[in-house]
Amino acid sequence: MSLRYKRQLPLIGEDGQEKLRSSLVAIVGLGGIGSPLALYLCGAGVNLRLIDGDKVSLDNLHRQILYGEDDIGLPKALVAERELKRRNNEISIEGIPERLGKENVEELFSDVDLVLDATDNFTTRYVINEFCVRKGLPFIYSAISGYYFAVSFIMPRKTPCLRCIFPSVEDSGPVPVIGSVPALVASISATEAIKYLTKGKPSLMGKLLVGDLDTMEISEIRIERNPRCPVCSAINQ
Ligand SMILES: [Zn+2]
Repeated sequence: MSLRYKRQLPLIGEDGQEKLRSSLVAIVGLGGIGSPLALYLCGAGVNLRLIDGDKVSLDNLHRQILYGEDDIGLPKALVAERELKRRNNEISIEGIPERLGKENVEELFSDVDLVLDATDNFTTRYVINEFCVRKGLPFIYSAISGYYFAVSFIMPRKTPCLRCIFPSVEDSGPVPVIGSVPALVASISATEAIKYLTKGKPSLMGKLLVGDLDTMEISEIRIERNPRCPVCSAINQ
């Protein structure tokens, strides 16, 4: 096995590394969470599909660490693909400069093993949730607002779905953010993804990890399925 992965092999083993090499993960959103998430999974040796329809702007740079000043105006998905290929040329990295929606979710998720929600809005999250529940595809929800963060591993048919946790959230536009807060969420999500892909045992199934990095209070909330959830109730029964 490659020298590249020498320091993680004691933790995941050659078979775990092989599982990463044969896994395809979709990252939806390449902003403050998606940038470090993509960097860590690329480094770990996971094949990536990177989905984002936005272009880089100056006010992204304090947290979106994949991009530089000379990338302003370029599609994030294509810059991310270029930057990640510089770091690992042994995996498949595919940038898709499109916004995920009902019209393309089937095509973009058809062959993936895990979806990572690194978006900044519930419109897209609900599209991810509905598709993943219908197809039995696991996904990791991650979100930040100011100093607050939340992460959960959603395994359709086993755990509550995103609609069970958040029945109806209306997006209210960009939230304030310190760049290091989404980086923490990305680290948690990337670690959960690697644990799931290598040994099938993430820690946040059926749990919502929430924290406030202003007070440094972090807690785990056990979440319950809504028996009348419009998305998962028919499937889970
Ligand atoms: Zn549900």
